[in-house]
Amino acid sequence: MPKGHHYGRSQVRPYTSEYPKIKAIIFKDMLTRPLGLFTLHSNQLSEEHSKFESKETKQGKRYLQFDINDTPHRILLELDNRSASNKLYITCPYCNKPRQHLYAIKYAYACRGCIGLHYACQSERPQERLMRRIRKLRKELWGYDWPDVNNMFEQVTYWPKPKWMRWKTFELKRNKITELERRYWGLAIPQLKTMFGAQFMENN
Ligand SMILES: [Zn+2]
Repeated sequence: MPKGHHYGRSQVRPYTSEYPKIKAIIFKDMLTRPLGLFTLHSNQLSEEHSKFESKETKQGKRYLQFDINDTPHRILLELDNRSASNKLYITCPYCNKPRQHLYAIKYAYACRGCIGLHYACQSERPQERLMRRIRKLRKELWGYDWPDVNNMFEQVTYWPKPKWMRWKTFELKRNKITELERRYWGLAIPQLKTMFGAQFMENN
């Protein structure tokens, strides 16, 4: 098979399994047990992802509160009474949609939709493709050893011209990278905001 040609389903599983997940069903007891503090026993989860308090809304709905990175994450327990099986769902703290799984990301619990895992069904996420292209073009200009050559938070605007290159060629190449960086952040920022809410990019 030609290299880089085939991205099949095999790429999906490693990607989704990068994040530990919690399943709705494990919280079924929480609907009937007394409210209080609980701990999930899993060596995959951080301490903040393991400790939670079960609480009740004024309307009498049960929810779980995880305090992660000083931010309360409220996960509502929703029983689907329409089906005979009474399936339990947990709601995503970001989009409030009922889900069967939530994923533990660095500072949060979120559903696959909010993390952008749905892109994994395609061969690659668009911003990842862009990022790889930007890094490749940067290395062509500044070399593999250049500090921050892989750092997407650094932008190339003031990086110096390689000695051997003509100014005109350099500017064309650099402007191309700047343009791609702009597109990259256009895709990345809305997604980061969904994940981290208002705390993210407050200085902008
Ligand atoms: Zn969500």
